[in-house]
Amino acid sequence: MNQTMKSEIVLKDVKSECNEIPATGALCRFCGTSLRHTLVDLGMSPLCESYLAAEQLNRMEPFYPLHVYVCERCFLVQLQEYVSAESIFTEYAYFSSYSDSWLQHASNYVDQMVQRFGYDTSSFVVELASNDGYLLQYFIKKNIPCLGVEPAVNVAQVAIDKGVPTLVKFFGAATAHEMVSSGRHADLILANNALAQVPDVNDFVRGMKILLAPGGVVTIEFPHLMKLMEENQFDTIYHEHFSYFSFITSQEIFAAHGLTVFDVEELPTHGGSLRIFARHTEDTSKPLTSRAHELRQREISAGFMRLETYSQFGEQVKETKRKLLEFLIRVRRENKSICGYGAPGKGNTLLNYCGIRSDLLDYTVDRSPYKQGKFLPGTHIPIFHPDKISETRPDYILILPWNLKHEIRQQLSYVREWGGRLVVPIPVVEVLD
Ligand SMILES: [Zn+2]
Repeated sequence: MNQTMKSEIVLKDVKSECNEIPATGALCRFCGTSLRHTLVDLGMSPLCESYLAAEQLNRMEPFYPLHVYVCERCFLVQLQEYVSAESIFTEYAYFSSYSDSWLQHASNYVDQMVQRFGYDTSSFVVELASNDGYLLQYFIKKNIPCLGVEPAVNVAQVAIDKGVPTLVKFFGAATAHEMVSSGRHADLILANNALAQVPDVNDFVRGMKILLAPGGVVTIEFPHLMKLMEENQFDTIYHEHFSYFSFITSQEIFAAHGLTVFDVEELPTHGGSLRIFARHTEDTSKPLTSRAHELRQREISAGFMRLETYSQFGEQVKETKRKLLEFLIRVRRENKSICGYGAPGKGNTLLNYCGIRSDLLDYTVDRSPYKQGKFLPGTHIPIFHPDKISETRPDYILILPWNLKHEIRQQLSYVREWGGRLVVPIPVVEVLD
């Protein structure tokens, strides 16, 4: 081995150890620091909600990097905006109302909020990224005035048809100014799984500060970064999710805009989410709760303010891929059949990253009529109506929305008739009893 080669190898080793890559010119979307550290690189992937019709299968398909960075100053985990939010969200395939457990979650939330903060017919509730009105419908049932803000035209139309008032717009400081100039401030602003999807997180939080009435409350739900890393949920990373938050980082972002996060709940949704509660910093009527204090301490102890904690994640992800592929190859060698259940965004990240096409997974099914008859982006696996499972009687069914595995297990209890087994891919591939 000559001297040059030797030094190259040494350099490579040092690089992979500290996960530091040359500056890409990208800056942290919250604090503006140069992004130099990788959390995980999932390679090239298509937009995960771009389901294909049969006539699109022979065309070129855009793929973008799924390269996730962590900011060394504020620890915001983030993807660059490779595709503009406008092109992703103007027509969107995700309809919240197709999940029973998510509807139940929304209904429980409304009951809980009304009980805790006493909202009534004189209050005003605004939901950002209100989707198809899955949640606001429960405020309407209680005669509490509300308004949804939703940028996806097709999804907003479903809400409007249901009688949920909806403004078809992207939310930010400009929209908030328009809303308060033409009417009133909001007593409650909520946004579920929206904060991750805004490219300009500062503009979004600034908008909430403008829209919030004195004494009002903001609640935001987002997947908890600590859970994502602890439970290996790398498939919840996709181009539509620009940011991934720890509790600590969310507090820092809100504080920068004059909002104090005073309470937090840990929820089982989406594999482990946080619901944070914020208020105007000057509103001292709602003191910091012990739950908020405790979670902050827990994240600090778990190392979420140290870069080394983030640098180990990539290897864990590669091992998960190897285990899943080993399982699928074994099933194929045994001449057994396997199909998927569900066509969620997370399934598309998983299948594209692992290189699983219809050579390893025959087909998948989904309850949403919008997806049936289409094909998964990138992998081109066909999507059928769930009846396909009882018609073809597969030996194994891979549950792609593993976060709903309990609900799906009940729906699929009939597969036992022919000895069918259910499998989850995350946190590690497992055949369920
Ligand atoms: Zn930062």
